[in-house]
Amino acid sequence: MTSPQKQAIHVVGGGLAGSEAAWQIASAGVPVVLHEMRPAQSTAAHRTDGLAELVCSNSFRSDERETNAVGLLHEEMRRLGSLVMRAADANQVPAGGALAVDRDGFSDAVTKALAAHPLIAIRREQVALPPPDWDSVIVATGPLTSPALAQAIGKVTGEDALAFFDAIAPIVHRDSIDMSVAWLQSRYDKAGPGGSGADYINCPLNREQYQAFVAALVSGDKMTFHDWEQSTPYFDGCLPIEVMAERGPETLRHGPMKPFGLTNPHNPQEKAYAIVQLRQDNRLGTLFNMVGFQTKLKHGEQSRIFRTIPGLQRAEFARLGGLHRNTFLNAPKLLDNRLRLVAMPRLRFAGQITGCEGYVESAAIGLMAGRFAAADRRGEPVAPPPRTTAHGALLAYITGDHVETIDAGPRSYQPMNVNFGLFPPLAQLPSQHPDGSRLRGNAKTLAKKRALSARALADLDQWRDGRRIAAE
Ligand SMILES: Cc1cc2nc3c(=O)[nH]c(=O)nc-3n(C[C@H](O)[C@H](O)[C@H](O)COP(=O)(O)OP(=O)(O)OC[C@H]3O[C@@H](n4cnc5c(N)ncnc54)[C@H](O)[C@@H]3O)c2cc1C
Repeated sequence: MTSPQKQAIHVVGGGLAGSEAAWQIASAGVPVVLHEMRPAQSTAAHRTDGLAELVCSNSFRSDERETNAVGLLHEEMRRLGSLVMRAADANQVPAGGALAVDRDGFSDAVTKALAAHPLIAIRREQVALPPPDWDSVIVATGPLTSPALAQAIGKVTGEDALAFFDAIAPIVHRDSIDMSVAWLQSRYDKAGPGGSGADYINCPLNREQYQAFVAALVSGDKMTFHDWEQSTPYFDGCLPIEVMAERGPETLRHGPMKPFGLTNPHNPQEKAYAIVQLRQDNRLGTLFNMVGFQTKLKHGEQSRIFRTIPGLQRAEFARLGGLHRNTFLNAPKLLDNRLRLVAMPRLRFAGQITGCEGYVESAAIGLMAGRFAAADRRGEPVAPPPRTTAHGALLAYITGDHVETIDAGPRSYQPMNVNFGLFPPLAQLPSQHPDGSRLRGNAKTLAKKRALSARALADLDQWRDGRRIAAE
């Protein structure tokens, strides 16, 4: 329903998140002004003046909604009237189980739909600082936010709260770690703030295993930096693990793999030569990150090499490591559960700048920011999506679920794709096939994912329709 008397909401940045946010706002009957700086000013990665330009791959990843978390996110977005998903579906190219798109057709479809909407005005201009009379703003300027705006955001949030590079260590699903090899203990059993003295998962290596591991890191295939990323700072505490390994065979043993203050209860007589520590990453305790293991190794190499660590032989990775040019906020500290900046609630943030990772996740956060902003403008109460949904799980990670730590090294809140490790565990795990026979191995894992997806979609439908969620 059109409401011409309503003041417009301003969306800054016409990428994946901003385009979706603008669409959701207008679909709720609220006027919106979308500010996009291209083509007058571009970024190092964008090439066109189209809205929702895909800067690299043309894939939205798996479209399998029953057993893949990003496929589930696709389906949830479709059910919430996503423009990004509508344009992707209409411009699909063959890619097996993945949803890949014709990038120009996709961007054209988004641009045309937004331009044709009577409640959307598109202004091609850079916003360096949202003026004070914009009472509702969504900042969706992405990983390559223009320097002027980044500076302004840094001033509002505090310098430490805005990062310009990510330094990502791999994250492992807790239930894939072999605890008959690994054990729980904090160094010197120190409890620390909020700890128990047994907060880390420790994986022991003997001398031969350590030496082979260091050799594999040094010879492993690395990702290259884009030209415009060459100045990526290897600042202290953030060196990639393989760069440390190149500095000398013993460097890691005196850095992130030091074995001191830890005793292996499975084999107390034998001192480990080196130890890899994993630290709880989310409040649910389902995900653990490999401490100090930020890396530029290629993803396949990471899985191969890190699975040689005793205890991680069958590790399932929720996220693999990386190091990129990226602008993102320390969102769990700064944003409330409706994506508003606590220090200045007229500003909302959406997309990769909140610390989510990926085209689809960025658009999904834009979708939520748009819905929240429109509901506020209409004076309607809106709850965040239940955390049992892919949207809710992602939002919970961004706005508070991540467990921050005070160890030396890069800030531990780092970009994350959607994955089933972010979802609250099921009250009861499926254990049987429909015919009553016992589920085992991969069939058990798939059944668990199917149950998580079915719960998510049922809860999402209730949330969308404004019905109460029975239990989260
Ligand atoms: C080089 C690179 C490659 C990537 N490859 C992939 C990939 O293959 N697959 C994947 O899933 N994800 C990838 N990502 C990560 C991420 O998914 C994308 O960056 C995604 O586009 C993020 O969506 P967004 O809406 O947050 O930002 P963007 O899509 O970048 O949109 C931000 C928009 O804001 C505009 N803008 C910036 N500052 C201002 C300002 N001050 N005023 C007005 N407009 C402004 C920009 O021009 C841009 O259009 C990549 C990221 C980078 C940097």
